[in-house]
Amino acid sequence: ESFEDMCLHRSIMKDIAYHEYTRPTSIQAQAMTVALSGRDLLGCAETGSGKTAAFTIPMIQFDWGFSYIDLQHCLAQPPVQRGDGPLALVLAPTRELAQQIEKEVKGFSRSLESFRTAIVVGGTNIADQKPELRAGVDVIVATPGRLIDHLQQGNTSLSRISFIVLDEADRMLDMGFEPQIREVMRNLPEKHQTLLFSATMPVEIETLTQEYLTSPVQVKV
Ligand code: AMP
Repeated sequence: ESFEDMCLHRSIMKDIAYHEYTRPTSIQAQAMTVALSGRDLLGCAETGSGKTAAFTIPMIQFDWGFSYIDLQHCLAQPPVQRGDGPLALVLAPTRELAQQIEKEVKGFSRSLESFRTAIVVGGTNIADQKPELRAGVDVIVATPGRLIDHLQQGNTSLSRISFIVLDEADRMLDMGFEPQIREVMRNLPEKHQTLLFSATMPVEIETLTQEYLTSPVQVKV
């Protein structure tokens, strides 16, 4: 499998070339095709496997019902409604991982000038993050606790999320984020695609998968 075989948009292909990724890693070869097909995914993969791009690229290429990707087409569309909450959400256990993911989202959406990504993590002043969220963003990369704080303050909402990634889900559970994850999953719109990545598959992850993923395809590296 090659990136050329995945029917990726040309702007994403350009960004892949810019990153000097010549071939998909094993997790990318397995997971991207599934994710691009719209199915839920359970991915067993560790950091270093290339899992970030494996979910970031399908997230950017997601069929939003309007095209961010094709800028020509975008110009012909009415402006995207802002301020209604993001279309995609990535939850990660730590601030460092969230920052890394955000960098990759930006890296694969370089040619999409109107694509807005926000990072929502603890350890920073919550008030500072508020104006950006209130102005409206397309993608939020967050740690669970801080995201819940913003939701409770009404700074953003989950009402339009159609693509969600739980990254390093086992670590999020180890850190005690299960209630926050459940709170998020319970409040998503009915129609959404879920990708769950975990380095290990303890019973708690199996339970989450059974509860919140719909007929997931399992991939493993
Ligand atoms: P990750 O597991 O997502 O943290 O990625 C680990 C490292 O592999 C990162 O530095 C990526 O930039 C790099 N990487 C991801 N995919 C590829 C690829 N297809 N070819 C070469 N390097 C890659």
